[in-house]
Amino acid sequence: MQKKVLIIGAGVIGCAIARELSRYQIDLTVLERGHDVCEGSSKANSGIVHAGFDAKPGTMKAKLNVEGSQQYEAFCAELGVPYSQPGAMVLAFTDEETETLQVLYRQGIENGVKDLSLLNTAEVLALEPNVNPEVKGALLAKTSGLVSPYELTYALADHAALNGAHFIFNEEAETLVQTGDGWIVHTRNGQYEADVIINCSGVSSAKLHNQISDDKREIINRRGQYWLLDHDVHRLFTMTMFQCPTKMGKGVLVSPTVHGNLLLGPTAEDIPDALDTSTTAEGLANVLNTARKTWPGINTRTGITNFSGIRAHEKNGDFIIGRVEGVKGAYETVGIESPGLTSCPAIAKLLADQVAEGEALEKKADFKAPVKLPKPFNEMTDEERRAAIAADPLNGKLICRCEVVTEGEIRAAIRRPVGATSIDGVKRRTRAGMGRCQGGFCSPRVAEILAEELKIPMTEVTKCGNESKLLVGTLSDSFAEV
Ligand SMILES: Cc1cc2nc3c(=O)[nH]c(=O)nc-3n(C[C@H](O)[C@H](O)[C@H](O)COP(=O)(O)OP(=O)(O)OC[C@H]3O[C@@H](n4cnc5c(N)ncnc54)[C@H](O)[C@@H]3O)c2cc1C
Repeated sequence: MQKKVLIIGAGVIGCAIARELSRYQIDLTVLERGHDVCEGSSKANSGIVHAGFDAKPGTMKAKLNVEGSQQYEAFCAELGVPYSQPGAMVLAFTDEETETLQVLYRQGIENGVKDLSLLNTAEVLALEPNVNPEVKGALLAKTSGLVSPYELTYALADHAALNGAHFIFNEEAETLVQTGDGWIVHTRNGQYEADVIINCSGVSSAKLHNQISDDKREIINRRGQYWLLDHDVHRLFTMTMFQCPTKMGKGVLVSPTVHGNLLLGPTAEDIPDALDTSTTAEGLANVLNTARKTWPGINTRTGITNFSGIRAHEKNGDFIIGRVEGVKGAYETVGIESPGLTSCPAIAKLLADQVAEGEALEKKADFKAPVKLPKPFNEMTDEERRAAIAADPLNGKLICRCEVVTEGEIRAAIRRPVGATSIDGVKRRTRAGMGRCQGGFCSPRVAEILAEELKIPMTEVTKCGNESKLLVGTLSDSFAEV
């Protein structure tokens, strides 16, 4: 009989591990407390594929960052996920920061990062003329990249599902109980049996770890708030612009996204509630004040939204990955804060190899290659658009005008192996609602399409699962009540 493997958490790490393990002859389930894949830190981060100069040499972070970053281009190309490698700079504004650049440079070389160099003021301004002219110098890392973290996570989930992984949503693992042969994972709604459990629950990972191990872990919830600016300012910076890191992290960046927006942030605030992804006036003002040091000309009129994500910072500072010491059939990834997104290909391979060896798993003969994400209509040439419309006339119906997303693309996103079930699920898979109007125009039409595809009444369509319904009733219902 096939071993039952249960992954807890469908973030980029859980999904990447699921995809690696779907190569083996196992009964694989991913349990997620959210209503969709990618509902934790993986949906709200900077989307940078870090070069690897920042992590302390000798740590798991340093090793997996550099390994992950080197694999990224091929990793994304195989899945059809957008990735680019424009490079990054760390800017110095004081003599002390100029010394920090030297430290980062040496650290990068020690970590095995290629294509690092130190620039003077003129060289910085020649490459990025919108940088504050008071800059004293910079570290240039040409291998720094950009990725869409949610598009990557959805693609990984789809590939795992294509190879037999089951995804179960709205189920929170509450208690892990070891039985003679394996595990029972209790949720509010029931229980799941497994031979092997893998804890990939992000900010909750220490809580689940501490239930089954005497070697206690502690996660500090470190929130990062952002400003997202519209496309029209994108050309102002071609690379990711960091400031010098502090003990709280890599600091506030000004960076293009892989889709051409400009991102400012994040803050680094330790907060008690791991689910508090609110933004605050103080936090957002702090981002602007700090980012102005990099780019004095920020114009907030181009801001289209704000958001925040929570880092799972383990108090000892490094990633914890592997078998839970002394506990049979239990594996984990704990404290996967930045550079977790960058490291995910390497983390997934490392952990899946350990599980395969530890549990004596055998490879499948019929592992299927991923179905690449199609080129978005937005990026097609006129000729490609004509062909797309000929293949499916619904590609001729524009639903999101800001981001140029068609009805055909939205229906396809709902029909994917792990398809969208909410307005936000459609938004992150297709970019409908990601633009300047933030869904003001297209959300009603997206809701109609979701209702048709999922065969549910419009009143059941949600923005982001649970009780986030858009409509409270129908007009005829309310007339009937009068
Ligand atoms: C502000 C910020 C900026 C960042 N910037 C970068 C960057 O530029 N580059 C980079 O490499 N990394 C970056 N990171 C780090 C990166 O986002 C994370 O390392 C990565 O997303 C972690 O993925 P994960 O799957 O471990 O966690 P998550 O994405 O949080 O996934 C964990 C999942 O587990 C689910 N879950 C939790 N508890 C339970 C439970 N009990 N039962 C069932 N499900 C559960 C959650 O709902 C969630 O979906 C950043 C992080 C933040 C917050």
